[in-house]
Formats: sequence, C-alpha cells, structure tokens
Amino acid sequence: MIKKSFEFDTLFSDIEQRLEERKNGIKPIRFKTCSKCKQKKSIFKFSLDKRNINGRTGICKACRSLEYLKYYYQNRERILIQVKEYQDEKDRSKYFKDYRRDHKEQLRKQAGNWYKKNRKRIKKRDFERKAKAKKGG
Ligand SMILES: [Zn+2]
Repeated sequence: MIKKSFEFDTLFSDIEQRLEERKNGIKPIRFKTCSKCKQKKSIFKFSLDKRNINGRTGICKACRSLEYLKYYYQNRERILIQVKEYQDEKDRSKYFKDYRRDHKEQLRKQAGNWYKKNRKRIKKRDFERKAKAKKGG
C-alpha cells in the first residue's frame, strides 16, 4: 500500500517536472548515472536540485529513499521523540484554545469579577501613572 502511493507520487512529480521543463524551454538530458548505485537511469528517476549543474540530484530517487529509510531506522527513537514532542505541544495549545472557547462566558465573568474587585486599585494605579506622566512630560 505504502509502496504504491510512493510510486504514484513519483509518477506525478515526474509529469510536473516534464511540464516545467517544457515550459522553460529546457532541453533536458535524458539519462544520468547515479553516484550511489552507479546505474544509468532516466533523468526523471532523479529529484530536482537547483544547486546541481544539470538541475538534478546526484543520486537517484530510489537511493535517496533508501538513504532516508536507513537514516530513519538509525535515528528512529530520536525522530519518534521529536514527533511525540511536537504532537504534545500541538495538543497542549489545542487544549487551551478549546478551553478558552468552551469557557468564554465563564472567563469573561471571572475577568469582570477581578476588575470589580480591583477597580479601586486599578483606578488608583492609572491615576498615579497619569500624574507621573504629567510630572515627567
Ligand atoms: Zn541510485
């Protein structure tokens, strides 16, 4: 299943790349030798890379995904932890967002009560600030 969707994606990006090259009037080279598996392959088996002279990566897509898989399995734990942390962070902010949404009225009341309770103090503070500003300016 995973393999199938990967191939489908690859096919799609190949078509896009072909269209892009035709649009730009580039006459593309047809084949390239992969620096990893040393096989001569169709240029569309290589990903686009603007830094490269012929606009393609030095190693083919198959080798690249293999490299990634290797990297993934070697760093699996670290990657999973990162993903988990990211997910937790997302959950947390979602929790607060939902909380604010679900308790909107309650939070407004609380803020109102706080203001009522501290009204005198706030007014006094504002008054003092204004007085200070007048003195200063
Ligand atoms: Zn290769």
